Amino acid sequence: MPRESAAEPTEPTVSAVRPASALPPGRPAEQLLAELRDLRAADAPTRGGRTFAYVYDAGLPDLDELTEAAYGVFATVNGLDPTVFPSVARLENDVVGAVSAILGVPGAQGSFTSGGTESILLAVKAARGHARSARGVTRPQLVLPSTAHAAFHKAAHYLGLEPVVVPVDPLTFRADAPAVANAITERTALVVASAPSYAHGVLDPVAEIAAAAEARGVLCHVDACIGGWFLPFLARVGLPIEPFGLSVPGVTSISVDLHKYGYAHKGASVVLYRDAELRRHQYFAYAGWPGYPVVNPTVQGTKSGGLLAQAWAVLHHLGHDGYTALARRVALAADQLLPGLRSLDGIRVLGDPAGSLIAFTVHSSAGTPDLGLVLHLADEMRERGWYLQPQLSCDGLPPNLHLTLTPATSDRVEPLLADLAEALTAARACEPVIVDPALVELGATLDPDTLTPEDVAGFLAFAGLDGAGGLPTRTAPVLALLDALPPRLKERMLTEFVGSLFRI
Ligand SMILES: *Cc1c(COP(=O)(O)O)cnc(C)c1O
Repeated sequence: MPRESAAEPTEPTVSAVRPASALPPGRPAEQLLAELRDLRAADAPTRGGRTFAYVYDAGLPDLDELTEAAYGVFATVNGLDPTVFPSVARLENDVVGAVSAILGVPGAQGSFTSGGTESILLAVKAARGHARSARGVTRPQLVLPSTAHAAFHKAAHYLGLEPVVVPVDPLTFRADAPAVANAITERTALVVASAPSYAHGVLDPVAEIAAAAEARGVLCHVDACIGGWFLPFLARVGLPIEPFGLSVPGVTSISVDLHKYGYAHKGASVVLYRDAELRRHQYFAYAGWPGYPVVNPTVQGTKSGGLLAQAWAVLHHLGHDGYTALARRVALAADQLLPGLRSLDGIRVLGDPAGSLIAFTVHSSAGTPDLGLVLHLADEMRERGWYLQPQLSCDGLPPNLHLTLTPATSDRVEPLLADLAEALTAARACEPVIVDPALVELGATLDPDTLTPEDVAGFLAFAGLDGAGGLPTRTAPVLALLDALPPRLKERMLTEFVGSLFRI
């Protein structure tokens, strides 16, 4: 092998096809670190409270030092085998125990995972295994309010379950508990409620949904990925928060991301089950090969001990008091932002946000949600240095902008509102976004599975997404086009687009 690869560089095709991936003879560390820092310049800022999605900034500069140092201590440890690295089991039990102390019940057991998606995949896998062994379900279904996170659809896709989607209440954006109850069948492996939902930040009626599931002998997962480490601390500040943890009758598992309001670095989440017997279905064990006997509690095999160590450190450093103070700061930001938003002409906050996530739409002069205005507003805000997350329309739910509030955003509400008012005026003055009706018509006839690479390339070029000239600075025309496409075509186009970003 070494011989062959040594000969390869002389072949002109190798260097011509893959110039960027050729490994250099070696470069000094300083230079590489400088390059990494330079690369960050074009990114959205992750600290400072101007990026209202993807990042969770506690606004405490010392925290990054702690997480980085804690990661460093455990960076070389392999979490694959807690018998060789017992420290991993100790740290994981501490972290899962801390989550269980707030959201669990006596006897609850869980795992530390790489994120919300993995926690959800595992909860669905456990439910599938449980439904098969306890109830003989061989063609399992997953009952999901339409606002359940896309990760459940991913889990259904990976694990072979059929998603059964139940529309939410179009005014409150909360799951419709009676409709969810009606969707439960003999084949249902798991019913889901969100605390709160990502899209609109509203709390589903967890107790009602869990009771309906329990009455049918079906498991119920509460997706508290984003609210699980925030709402309990809001409750400590004295705000009325409906219970949503495992102590609610019928709730059998829950996911809680520590890399969101736990303020750990990314790669930190917990999935918790009411007992070890349920968690058993999450594990994978294999002793039928000649290598070491495998027991993988989670998706990964080899895994860094560093992510666990940094999550453990931040959790214990902030503690109850730290998290309570941070939750209070977020709540204050929301208290200031919500009336400010509502006072802006044409802005409508969606539903009754449970605390830290706010979605709002923008109305046209006719008084209806206007996709073009929503998207122009996002672009105008981006030009003013703020990232607000556009969410497209979906089954009658309006397009909107989504804000994740963090402690770091709490000092920024006034400038944010001032810029929003200005950006709104600018958005209204923009050319209306008009999607070519011929293109929409064409989209309705295209079969996403049989499109040729040329069809796709043509479509992307038309949308300005072919990479020529880099990413578009104004996203409104592109997103408006996407919004008008049927979901599966939208998925195909987005897949091609993202694939085009990762091209070597
Ligand atoms: C973030 C989130 C997820 C997915 O988690 P990742 O950490 O992004 O994988 C799932 N559900 C909700 C409610 C979330 O907010």
